[in-house]
Amino acid sequence: MPQTSKDPVALRSIIVLLGGPGSGKGTHGQALAAALGYEHLSSGEQLRDHIRRATPLGLQAKGLIENGQLVPDDLASELIHGLLAGYSNVRSFVLDGYPRSLAQAKALEQIVAAVGGTVTQALYLAISDDEIVRRLSGRLTCKTCGKTFHESSNPSARAGLCDRCGGELFRRIDDEPATIRRRIAVFHHAIDPLLAFYRETGRLAEVPAEGPVAEVSARVIARAKRGGEGCEGAPVQ
Ligand SMILES: [Zn+2]
Repeated sequence: MPQTSKDPVALRSIIVLLGGPGSGKGTHGQALAAALGYEHLSSGEQLRDHIRRATPLGLQAKGLIENGQLVPDDLASELIHGLLAGYSNVRSFVLDGYPRSLAQAKALEQIVAAVGGTVTQALYLAISDDEIVRRLSGRLTCKTCGKTFHESSNPSARAGLCDRCGGELFRRIDDEPATIRRRIAVFHHAIDPLLAFYRETGRLAEVPAEGPVAEVSARVIARAKRGGEGCEGAPVQ
């Protein structure tokens, strides 16, 4: 079907992936984007890139992230707007790590409309708090390429070194135990209004996200392909 500028919905669709820290948004986001032929955008990765490059935005975000806090809504929205606007030739996106609050979800509606698109679905990767702690406390990240491993469930072939690029693995400061607890508290505070927002607009789907990575990715992809059938399952506690 031909697309015209009068039909922004057909021009760009954005699927947002929601979930707590360690829920696998990056991993499943990549798998989903590949399956649908969408571009994958990770706001967390982009922020860490800004921090590495010490941009004004990165400098503002650095202390907050290391402390387990969310970056302020206006800063996060600025980042996402820059990202989406920068991809003038890309039709559709899987977005992970944003929005993280109701205010950001509302801002995203405007940002996406401004680049000629619509948020078609919000997929919530549901995992328990115990699972979040288990995953994050063993997580190791490559200093060079950002790929993540897990000490016990997904170790690299050579201890301390990345399988993909040979870079050095390290524990991110926001994956330290005290920070993990704070991140979980921050997450719970923000997620309920966010889920309610997408549920009320018929775009929320909850995907159980514990278990083998490939199985969860398959579930995420299947759910996204089924499209906007509204909410399934009970509200998350
Ligand atoms: Zn690497």
